Amino acid sequence: MSAAIPPGFEHAELDWDENGQPQSRRYGDVYFSRGSGMAETTHVFLQPNRLAERFAALQAGERLVIGETGFGTGLSFLCAWALFERTAPANSALHFVSVEKHPLTRDDLQRALTLWPELQLQARQLLDQYVAINPGFQQFRFGQVTLTLLVGDALDRLKELDAQVDAWFLDGFAPPKNPDMWQPELFEQVARLSAPGATLATFSSAGSVRRALKEAGFEIKRIPGFGQKWENLQGHLAASPKTLESPWFARPPHQPTQRKALIIGAGLAGCASAASLAARGWQVTLLERHDDVAQEGSGNPQGVLYLKLSAHGTALSQLVASGFGYTRRLLQNLQQGQDWDACGVLQLAFDNKESARQAALSDTFPPSLLRAVQREEAEQLAGVALGHGGLFYPDTGWAHPPALCRWLIAHPAIELLRHRHPVELRRAGEQWQALIGDELLAEAPVVILAGAADVARFSQSAWLPLKRIRGQITALPVTEQSCALRTVLCAKGYVAPPREGQHTLGASFNFAETDPAPSAAEHHSNLEMLAEISADLHQRLEADTVDIDQLHGRVAFRCTSPDYLPIIGALADPARFAEAYAVLAKDARQVPDTPCPWLDGLYVNTAHGSRGLITAPLSGELLAAWLNDEPLPVPRAIAEACHPNRFLLRKLIRRID
Ligand code: SAM
Repeated sequence: MSAAIPPGFEHAELDWDENGQPQSRRYGDVYFSRGSGMAETTHVFLQPNRLAERFAALQAGERLVIGETGFGTGLSFLCAWALFERTAPANSALHFVSVEKHPLTRDDLQRALTLWPELQLQARQLLDQYVAINPGFQQFRFGQVTLTLLVGDALDRLKELDAQVDAWFLDGFAPPKNPDMWQPELFEQVARLSAPGATLATFSSAGSVRRALKEAGFEIKRIPGFGQKWENLQGHLAASPKTLESPWFARPPHQPTQRKALIIGAGLAGCASAASLAARGWQVTLLERHDDVAQEGSGNPQGVLYLKLSAHGTALSQLVASGFGYTRRLLQNLQQGQDWDACGVLQLAFDNKESARQAALSDTFPPSLLRAVQREEAEQLAGVALGHGGLFYPDTGWAHPPALCRWLIAHPAIELLRHRHPVELRRAGEQWQALIGDELLAEAPVVILAGAADVARFSQSAWLPLKRIRGQITALPVTEQSCALRTVLCAKGYVAPPREGQHTLGASFNFAETDPAPSAAEHHSNLEMLAEISADLHQRLEADTVDIDQLHGRVAFRCTSPDYLPIIGALADPARFAEAYAVLAKDARQVPDTPCPWLDGLYVNTAHGSRGLITAPLSGELLAAWLNDEPLPVPRAIAEACHPNRFLLRKLIRRID
């Protein structure tokens, strides 16, 4: 996969005029009219797209998707959101997808949004979540309103998007000031991403824009402009949008009549799936075999927000950059210090190979996400002596995953049923029934399997290639000296600043062992890892004299897939799949038009490995997007790379068993 995260990412650079209005230094243009930005937005974008009347006509469970080029200060987004709140019925939704090459810094955004006291309710919520705005897809949830912010150049990001947009706001500074964006490729993407009959509005009426829009299949007309602007454009898609997708990665056509889901497994993947569906008006029953949520892989006291990025823009790296942003925004809702801490993470450059990897990363990612630090600075940040410098990730830290799970499912539409351990799934009419023996535990038209490696116990999902890797953490009591530790330190393992009087140190990797009890040998190897991370901290924690037999720890089993990507999406019947697409074994370039033999309503969300804190919350949004036919919160290629059908496809093409 090519590097999708552009180097040289830069925030907007603003100049402020005497009325406190922002102007872009880079483009020499204003973000909105100097007179009245809100009135202008209504006139140029909201009215020509007939949003008030389309919002009012939404039925329960329906949503409208707006696409925008140029998020800027978010004024158009906030105006659309406020109008949606005034006009749309309960249980309908707004999904706003916007692309932005130069996001404002949080301080600039805050300053710009003080201009609109009428929008303070919405602006406050946006500002609260305006963190970790890194290149790639960034997902935000505000109740019934979802924002998918595509950070990067419109021409790159829109190609990655999978969405059906109902109404477009084509913004992005005047074409003469920003000719690079107003290219025919932009309009091709706008047409590709348009739902049938999609409407559009733009403040530009340049001849080149009119011609390119017509060429892309839009019927357009000139309408009177706002203020001193002579005219704007309004239009709608006249041609039918082309959909060219492989049937095995198509959106499953099955739409249940009842919006009810059964989720099996209440770890992070299950709780996140529940939260994302409940936010969209679904009733969710969550079945958990233990007596509480987060008792297995999501049960450690401190999980590290560790970003395993790649300078080559791999699928995993893109997923991690997007997942981190989403998790980081959710954590804003938890109690800092108790349930999480943005104390930063230092990844130490502990050998030459790691130093080279880190150098490539610091050339690729913006300093707001990570920056190289020499040993002296690393020690100042960490508060303890270190053997190496490394990469510092200022916005990250640790979180208590059970607290995040509890927060995610605190919704009236989610019911948690404890001590329920179904072993069989049976289709009965429109419903999936979850059974143990003959006892029916629950039923719903949609089931999401989210129980890590245990997902494979059902006959429908037994073929999934899941591995279990034992991991043991060691809980080290804080000492007077160890309190100095201020950031998470990572090398081959990690150690976190204290939570409730203990530092979490971990975690071992053991492919062979299946015993769930903590072992002295793995405590020992964890302590050795600590010594490699920082001999000073090892000493401060009195790790040399600690009685290993008295140490507390915890064992959990990470669930991973052969390519280390999670498995998120709809399940198909493997035998019928092999039959339907047998031709691929002879010629892998064929795209037969046979529909995929889906197991209607059956989905999976698992294999998050040791990165669940980063990837699981966003995986809930991805599943919900598949299920609700919404814009995907990750690039299409990443959603496909995580799709369960990738394994069935590889098996056919490469004859892998
Ligand atoms: N809709 C915005 C608002 O409500 O504040 C105003 C948008 S402002 C006029 C234009 C925006 O387009 C700027 O934020 C600019 O950084 C962005 N932009 C310019 N060229 C772009 C490109 N090639 N890709 C994505 N965004 C771009």
